[in-house]
Amino acid sequence: MPGTMTLEELRAAFDAGGIDTVLVAAPDMQGRLMGKRFHAAHFLASGHEETHCCNYLLATDMEMLTVEGYASTSWAKGYGDYTMKPDLSTLRRVPWLPGTALVLCDLVDHHTHEEVAISPRAILKRQVARAREMGYAAMAATELEFFIFEQSYEALRDGTDHLTPISGYNEDYHLFQTSKEEPLMRALRNGLYGAGIPVENSKGEAEAGQAEINIRYEEMLKTADFHVITKQATKEIAHSLGKSVTFMAKYDHRRAGSSSHVHQSLWTLDGQPAFLDTGAEYGMSALMRQYMAGQLAHAGEITALLAPYVNSYKRFCVGMFAPTKAVWSLDNRTAGFRVCGDGTKALRVECRIGGADLNPYLACAGLLAAGLAGIEHGLELEPEMRGDSYRNATAREIPKTLRHAADLLEGSVMLRAAFGDEVVDHYTRAARWEIEEQDRVVTDWERKRLLERG
Ligand code: ADP
Repeated sequence: MPGTMTLEELRAAFDAGGIDTVLVAAPDMQGRLMGKRFHAAHFLASGHEETHCCNYLLATDMEMLTVEGYASTSWAKGYGDYTMKPDLSTLRRVPWLPGTALVLCDLVDHHTHEEVAISPRAILKRQVARAREMGYAAMAATELEFFIFEQSYEALRDGTDHLTPISGYNEDYHLFQTSKEEPLMRALRNGLYGAGIPVENSKGEAEAGQAEINIRYEEMLKTADFHVITKQATKEIAHSLGKSVTFMAKYDHRRAGSSSHVHQSLWTLDGQPAFLDTGAEYGMSALMRQYMAGQLAHAGEITALLAPYVNSYKRFCVGMFAPTKAVWSLDNRTAGFRVCGDGTKALRVECRIGGADLNPYLACAGLLAAGLAGIEHGLELEPEMRGDSYRNATAREIPKTLRHAADLLEGSVMLRAAFGDEVVDHYTRAARWEIEEQDRVVTDWERKRLLERG
């Protein structure tokens, strides 16, 4: 597959006039790519070693506010720098931007030279390393759903009342409607392929204007890297065509939401599927049962990592394919955890709780930490839930609000052991900030409802 390149290959491409720009990017708390655009000559001369960014990039919100209450940085601490250290194994072409390559960075403390503990990439790396120490490669795929609109982001600046989804009807698996979307989706598939991202397919989804893109499963760090680059690619290619996309979990209460289901499996370090035991029920090994038991036991505690905004919780509604219950079931889309590929090497557990707004590093780290805790404590898997879990009154609920999920995150002994207190406190603050802002801001809905009649 084309795509990833060595520094020498970048040099050759620069000398041949093929690449002149290198995007030097670090994923932030929201899973956005933040960084600088380097001239390739400067990147080759010294930028590939390191560059710097303001440390508020891991303490800000969507609006780039200097949010109070973080231990990592503040006005009192002077908002200093982090070192951005390119991970050259991620250097790749960006075929959808002319003459451009991209590299992802780790964020490093520029005094101690250690990775910044609260950096999403560092948080996931730590859990992946933990799995490896236990003898497993943690594999995952993060399916990504989104909506495509006819208008550009610029055209929507004056208001989103007249958003026009690219299709007029539910286009789930539709090949005719998705033919109309090929200027975007074909460019996306081919662009990702050309960037060394193993794209499997795209499809229409179960709402007007909704699409899904699937990337082949890989070890979790690579999967999260693929995810953030795929989001960026989707926005950039849509923008180049005068359209826009959204990864909001729920952009309209009358429409379905967008998810990012996380398919997971553990493999031995010599490449055997450790979740598979062909003699057992559904082919599920004892290891897989413990892993799933861990995720069920800690589902509430990791929900803020799968559903990070107040808006994320509006997706969890009955009868719209988003789950409301943290239970497991074989090939059942009403359950929070669905077992897929039973009896085969493709056996995996799909967590359906996450929205398309999740940060894939944090989501994968939380899921993996919970699964590994299940293995370490030899947890027993509860009986399978069968049938419609929406209507199962006694089944374990997914937290209904970010407020509840933030409390569970803060109190999680499991996550404090896996991530460290500094990380849990930091992301609890991030969740609470979202709640404080939502509590403070007066919305269109309130004005419409109350201005005249209230
Ligand atoms: P769906 O019907 O849910 O869309 P797909 O067949 O498209 O299911 O697969 C979803 C994702 O699962 C794909 O990205 C695929 O690469 C991934 N996948 C397949 N096998 C495994 C596995 N063993 N572990 C983790 N992910 C896997």
